[in-house]
Amino acid sequence: MNTATRALTVAAAAEFAHLAPAAVRLPVLRRTLARRTAGLGADPHHVALTFDDGPDPRSTPYVLDALDGLGGVRATFFLLGSMLERAPALGRELVLRGHEVAVHGWYHRQQWYPAPVRDLREVRRTTEAVTELCGARPHWYRPPYGVLTAGPALAARSLGLRSVLWTAWGRDWTAEATGASVYATARPGLTGGATLLLHDSDRTSAPDSWRATLAALPLIAAHCRTRALTLGPLRDHAVPWPS
Ligand SMILES: [Zn+2]
Repeated sequence: MNTATRALTVAAAAEFAHLAPAAVRLPVLRRTLARRTAGLGADPHHVALTFDDGPDPRSTPYVLDALDGLGGVRATFFLLGSMLERAPALGRELVLRGHEVAVHGWYHRQQWYPAPVRDLREVRRTTEAVTELCGARPHWYRPPYGVLTAGPALAARSLGLRSVLWTAWGRDWTAEATGASVYATARPGLTGGATLLLHDSDRTSAPDSWRATLAALPLIAAHCRTRALTLGPLRDHAVPWPS
């Protein structure tokens, strides 16, 4: 192999390494090839409830009150550092009210080209902000848009974070979403071991879409209750450790 061919091979391998993990966004692949990263828990009676894109003073307090009103349901909140630095008291309140805080990124941007230094800087910055401002060390990382490329995945691992996506969603980010539509979309996936993705902020979604999320919560909770499924945070979800 001459130098040019070797360079191309290395470049191709690097590109594959960067792009290949993004394939776990596909539901079938997520279930079969990346069960751990999908957040498929081992407890058949538990559904992990997760919220992305906050904390948002306009919407997150309503979500917190709704969860309290549903018998004290607790969840995992994947925070954006850029949101948290504007609402540190709300980040702290999440922890004080018994919820789990996790890392979503500093900005909400999709990264399709390798930038490992920037990836590490952003994931570290967010991890430190969550730890300092919320008063709890995060254990989970979920990339914006669920695009888990190699750079952020390796950055998260180096910081002691476990990457986790989801197995079910309610498409609560759309302008057409209603409480009923979010519930109907999520319902087929609400089985034991599922990880449900919702949003407690419309920061990257259609304006006021969080209201649909809010309206769906009692429906989702009732569904789980009738099937003896407990809604809770990822820390209680028995996600298998990598072997
Ligand atoms: Zn997000």
